[in-house]
Amino acid sequence: MRGLGAFALVALATASLTAQSGPPAPGRVEGAEALRVIPIRGNVFMITGAGGNIAASIGRDGTMLVDTGSTAMAETVLQTVRDLERRVMATGLPPRGCVGVSAGCTWWSSSNFLPSTVAPPAPRPIAAIVNTSASAEHIGGNAVIASAGRTFGVRNLLDRSQLGAWIVAHENVATRLSPKGVPSVPAAALPSEVYFGDEKKLNFFNGEAVVVTHIPRAHSDGDSVVHFRGSDVLAAGDFVNMAHYPVIDVERGGSIQGVVDGANKLLDITVVEHMMEGGTMIVPGHGRLIDTADLAYYRDMVTIMRDRVRELRRRGMSLEQIQRAGITRDYDPRFGRDATWTPARFIEAIFRTLPTGS
Ligand SMILES: [Zn+2]
Repeated sequence: MRGLGAFALVALATASLTAQSGPPAPGRVEGAEALRVIPIRGNVFMITGAGGNIAASIGRDGTMLVDTGSTAMAETVLQTVRDLERRVMATGLPPRGCVGVSAGCTWWSSSNFLPSTVAPPAPRPIAAIVNTSASAEHIGGNAVIASAGRTFGVRNLLDRSQLGAWIVAHENVATRLSPKGVPSVPAAALPSEVYFGDEKKLNFFNGEAVVVTHIPRAHSDGDSVVHFRGSDVLAAGDFVNMAHYPVIDVERGGSIQGVVDGANKLLDITVVEHMMEGGTMIVPGHGRLIDTADLAYYRDMVTIMRDRVRELRRRGMSLEQIQRAGITRDYDPRFGRDATWTPARFIEAIFRTLPTGS
């Protein structure tokens, strides 16, 4: 049933384009042809094409974004989110009392229990942004999009007009964005709320718990995974990468062991749907939406690559020799086609971040 609901939304999203320019590609949103919107489950969507992948929770509590794409795409992302907000509100939520996908409910939220007369007629503001790392293609839209939003909570008791949406990130993201205390991005793009330690629980939002978990030393030292626990969608950020081998940002504290550990940590959380694609859905930092089976395949790949590099290094081979040994050949058709993050660079990152003596 939820599949049908998702299809209906895509059809709605494309209907207005059809009138002007013929049938558009499924899932494209008017005015933002470069971006693609994929309804995942419940109130959670994936937006692709803006640099890094974006996850969005959109509903009666407002909008929460996980990452904001590149700076060049900021206005387009904002326009797409606004468009999506209007469509979500217009499409309507399920009848009151309709809770959970097992009951055939496409839209559900704690607000369903409120009398329908208090339903807000217009979309609520963008209330929060969570950044999965400090990488440019994930934080580039922060300033523009946060400024267009308005956060929940006490911060807005100070001055409702001036404060934009919360930007939440691990404290190492803030540190990396302000090397030696000097911000390398506009002040409005910096995290306004940082956490340290293992996790941060955000407010119950659009009818579900949202939990941010730190993944230590994986893509970087400030990686976060965002779990929409009701919809059961994980926004994983860059240590899960389905477009090419994961970028390990060695200068910013990334490591191959962190990538392997992070993938295993996610597998502890995910649940399969019996005999079909589904269950917990994962939004990777780049590439397509995946499920548990995809994640297990990915975990195997990064583990095998770690072990191959470690074994050849143990045998006394140099980095250059390992790079020429053809150890990525079986995975290259799937992960090795990026012109910038090449198999050789991936091998180098593994080589440099494996503990010495391992
Ligand atoms: Zn990225």
